[in-house]
Amino acid sequence: MARDPRHDVLFEPVRIGPKTLRNRFYQVPHCTGFGVQKPRGQAGHRAMKAEGGWAAACTEYCAVSPDSDETPFISARMWDDGDLRALAVMCDEVHAHGALAGVELHHSGAHCPRREWRLPALAPSQVASDYLLVVPKAMEKSDIRRIASDWRDAAVRAREAGFDIVYVYGAHSYLPMQFLSPFYNKRTDEYGGSLENRARFWLETLELVREAVGDDCAIASRIAVDALGPYGVELEEGLAFIRLADHLVDLWDVNVGSALEWSKDSGASSFFAEGWQVEHTRRVREATAKPILGVGRFTSPDAMAAVIRSGVWDVIGAARPSIADPFLPAKVEAGRYGEIRECIGCNICITKADPGGNVGCTQNATAGEEYRRGWHPERFERAENADRDVLVVGAGPAGMECAIVLGKRGFRRVHLVDAEKEIGGITRWVPRLPRRGEWARLLNWRRIQLEKLSNVEVITGTRLDAGDVREYGAELVVVATGAHWAGDGINPATHEPIDGADAGLAHVLTPEQIMLEAKRPPGERVVVYDGEGYYMAPALAELLAGEGHAVELVTCLGEIAPFTYETLEQKLLRRALHDAGVVMHEHVVLDRIAAGSVTGVDEFGEAVAFEADAVVLVTQRVSNEALYLELAERPDELEAEGIEAVYRIGDCVAPQLIADAIFDGHRLAREIDSDDPATPLPYLRERPETPVPAPS
Ligand code: ADP
Ligand code: SF4
Repeated sequence: MARDPRHDVLFEPVRIGPKTLRNRFYQVPHCTGFGVQKPRGQAGHRAMKAEGGWAAACTEYCAVSPDSDETPFISARMWDDGDLRALAVMCDEVHAHGALAGVELHHSGAHCPRREWRLPALAPSQVASDYLLVVPKAMEKSDIRRIASDWRDAAVRAREAGFDIVYVYGAHSYLPMQFLSPFYNKRTDEYGGSLENRARFWLETLELVREAVGDDCAIASRIAVDALGPYGVELEEGLAFIRLADHLVDLWDVNVGSALEWSKDSGASSFFAEGWQVEHTRRVREATAKPILGVGRFTSPDAMAAVIRSGVWDVIGAARPSIADPFLPAKVEAGRYGEIRECIGCNICITKADPGGNVGCTQNATAGEEYRRGWHPERFERAENADRDVLVVGAGPAGMECAIVLGKRGFRRVHLVDAEKEIGGITRWVPRLPRRGEWARLLNWRRIQLEKLSNVEVITGTRLDAGDVREYGAELVVVATGAHWAGDGINPATHEPIDGADAGLAHVLTPEQIMLEAKRPPGERVVVYDGEGYYMAPALAELLAGEGHAVELVTCLGEIAPFTYETLEQKLLRRALHDAGVVMHEHVVLDRIAAGSVTGVDEFGEAVAFEADAVVLVTQRVSNEALYLELAERPDELEAEGIEAVYRIGDCVAPQLIADAIFDGHRLAREIDSDDPATPLPYLRERPETPVPAPS
């Protein structure tokens, strides 16, 4: 299949100062959890993007000095030569695939947690951070000079490490933006007051960096041209700064939002459509003669090419689309459009990387596993036991992913069997919930893959019991039968069912009953009771409110949908629920459900009551494990039928995120020819380089 000529524009090179981007696809800085502590993980992840055709791959934010210690979050660091050596590994591996390596040199200023450093945060003025519970020291002139020179020294080290692009990063209301913004900068000296004064720190830092490395490295600056709120600058001042600094910068990396409102930059698909940042950044062209790079969760080559042709930006930046598909540029280049694994905008990658974990992705199970597990998103080795037939029972996300990887590993025959008329399991119907439409990409991509694999047979409308499985004729069996929402109200607060909760009754409902059986509350007033803390309860509350019900969203947790704080959706979700007329109650544990009334206790032990015609239970899910247990408990019968092994994956092991169910299915298929596939192989661990003395 040939590339559509309309996309040729995406493959034009772009000159940035002394360097050239080979095309217009650019992996912007994003967190991974690797920093400098896991240099090989860092290198493996970035190099995969380089191999997949991105013109540049950048680090996450990279602190220039210890007073920007991000602990407990993991940033990269360029404090000393040890950090230089750690990041040089990334540069070498990125260069090996013909891409440029970028480093996002950074200082958090007031927004700095410093759990390792312990000494005060530094900021233009002593005003409390709006993002973390920090009151900083107001920087003295000596602090200003020192941090600017730390930045220069970090840039010199970055050049030595092999970086081609060096950032003076001021987006997300970090230190340079804190100087520029009157919201943070209350100074009365030459670093405060007028725009020229507020711009001085950023300009002086750019000058030092440019003077030190500008002949060898491209200088990039990241700026939130419009904070879309008080935590930065508005567009006119953003543009004015770009005019002042244009002679010092080779590439403008522009976005919107702030640290507190990062949700507006790394926008979840529940609230932001592909390309939403274009309208906020389209006027940057007025202020600069240099190339402009923007972001907006772009996965459609048509949309990307249209942006370039419109002249708004020169380069398409991507963090999440590059995590979901490191080979996106290569696939566009080759016209393999159906292969593109499109980001669904769920922000699970952020929840995995940011709290100091290991970046992971719902769509791409191999993200973050490049080095430690050696997984390549596009390459699969033939399995040693590929001459067997495998039966996968259940075509939800775990079963589909497992069958795809088994198919790619060359198994003689993979039979993917599902009880329903359609494959997809939970991914069949979750996209029909309010705000989850883009999640349909999970099923769409897998359906296309399954159709292409001639050794995978998909059989729907067939429910298998243990006898059917034993007689099926496959040597290997994978049970992926998923989970269901509890109909008795068992929940994390009491670990017991709720008195009167029974989804067999007309006034008690579960998510599947609402979405798959069209069961509806028998009256107007509904309580949605949440113990999960993620999207399901708010989505059903919004759905039922939209259908005209008076909805109260009650949770036994300390706040509404706490996990959506990590996915950057919570504030927006609360707003949406409020606007839909949903009344929210936190810290309430229900103890009795009856037609017409629901009772419970609040956090202080006081009794509470709700007048409700129905209750929707979103308390917890329960694994559908009966089939697996019945098979596993009778090994003799398996042996008699020639079945070598039975495994289970996904929600039927334990109810989990779709991301983790997919990961589990992928993991088993990658390791199905190991000595003991049920037990994950150990992964490579990176330890600090400081030698640990032997015990005396
Ligand atoms: P996961 O997230 O683990 O993939 P899901 O609940 O999304 O789980 O999907 C499980 C799938 O398994 C559903 O599509 C369901 O219809 C199917 N399933 C469950 N039990 C059986 C069975 N006994 N035979 C065939 N398919 C089954
Ligand atoms: Fe996109 Fe979700 Fe993957 Fe992040 S985790 S890259 S948002 S699909």
